[in-house]
Amino acid sequence: MSDLEAFRAETRAWLEANCPAEMRLPVRDEGDMCWGGRHPVFKSDAQKRWLETMAGRGWTVPDWPRDYGGGGLSPAETKVLKQEMARIGARNPLMSFGISMLGPALLKYGSEEQKRRFLPEIARGEIRWCQGYSEPNAGSDLASLQTKCEDKGDHWLVNGQKVWTSYADKADWIFCLVRTDPKAPKHEGISFLLFDMASEGVSTRPILLISGNSPFCETFFDDVRVPKDQLVGEVNKGWDVAKYLLGHEREMISGMGLGGQTGALGEALKEACAADPLLRADVARFDVDAMAFRAMSERFIDELKAGRAHPAQPSMMKYAGTELNKARHELVMAAGGSDALEWESERSRGGKAAREWLRTKANSIEGGTSEIQLGIVAKRILELPGA
Ligand SMILES: Cc1cc2nc3c(=O)[nH]c(=O)nc-3n(C[C@H](O)[C@H](O)[C@H](O)COP(=O)(O)OP(=O)(O)OC[C@H]3O[C@@H](n4cnc5c(N)ncnc54)[C@H](O)[C@@H]3O)c2cc1C
Repeated sequence: MSDLEAFRAETRAWLEANCPAEMRLPVRDEGDMCWGGRHPVFKSDAQKRWLETMAGRGWTVPDWPRDYGGGGLSPAETKVLKQEMARIGARNPLMSFGISMLGPALLKYGSEEQKRRFLPEIARGEIRWCQGYSEPNAGSDLASLQTKCEDKGDHWLVNGQKVWTSYADKADWIFCLVRTDPKAPKHEGISFLLFDMASEGVSTRPILLISGNSPFCETFFDDVRVPKDQLVGEVNKGWDVAKYLLGHEREMISGMGLGGQTGALGEALKEACAADPLLRADVARFDVDAMAFRAMSERFIDELKAGRAHPAQPSMMKYAGTELNKARHELVMAAGGSDALEWESERSRGGKAAREWLRTKANSIEGGTSEIQLGIVAKRILELPGA
């Protein structure tokens, strides 16, 4: 038995023994996902136990070094773990912007002290992070951001406003882009700062959507004092950190193209297909695209772990994955007919299909719009003239 086969057998047995049955059921709603944080909300004992068990083994972040709370697994072992979790339908124990976005940036750009301070907390899900990038006049053109950060000798002083800050009202800390040199060319006067959302001068105002949900906020900074050692990388070089983090964010969002644990379109769709040849053709086309995306995604992850991925490849994956996810939900709605538009009835599980369909519209905006990703692919991967 090769080492990897032995690891697979061991992992399979460990998961069988440790993954609670409830944590093998498909995720039905937001409450089924665990976000951790200073005041974590657990839907059940099983959810809490699953997080603690996985974190105890470093398997919330299996490929991070053990010194920083990770599992110290190789890329091949990490892939085996993911395959074995998928085999039994095991849920991700922790949803975390710390894991999917900030962690990789800290591993590359953080000081040793910052890594030891922040990464283990992220791995254990003890701190919930939010992302302070977008501002009212800086979305696609992110480098135009204006949140002011002044060097006051023994601390930084931050003033300004962010917008669309997902879950800012629930987050404990923020990773934030700030302008430290207003006179420099716009990409060269930005720094990357970490601070506690409980700091004096930080306030959030949830943005109420038509659905009644408030998944994101306006975030205000009014004379917020930030300790000097919470700036990541070099002063005025935060754009490098920001771009690197965006690559990881886009990689994470592209995973939507895989459509959850099975990527399946569901029973309703299969029934509708039997009666409607046009829909059947659309589903067949979708299935081929989904298979191609799955293959591309696996190759991309392998290349990424081997350090061979093109730095702009996450833009390609994000574009393909989010457009595919939108197509998936268009098909679900087409198959459901007018019933799928039900918004509140018990039969429709509170309008699950319609709400999920509408949510996918944001997939091609969050983390950078599809138009921007196409621009990056044209310029950096295809090297098209004039792009
Ligand atoms: C669900 C969701 C969650 C989000 N969470 C966060 C978060 O946690 N933190 C955070 O900082 N931000 C967050 N955002 C903000 C997101 O990053 C921005 O919405 C996005 O970058 C687009 O910026 P904008 O909304 O200002 O649109 P704009 O930049 O004003 O764009 C408007 C339109 O113009 C197009 N456009 C703009 N420039 C170009 C160009 N050069 N070429 C072609 N077309 C162009 C865009 O594609 C878009 O269609 C979130 C957004 C959503 C929808």
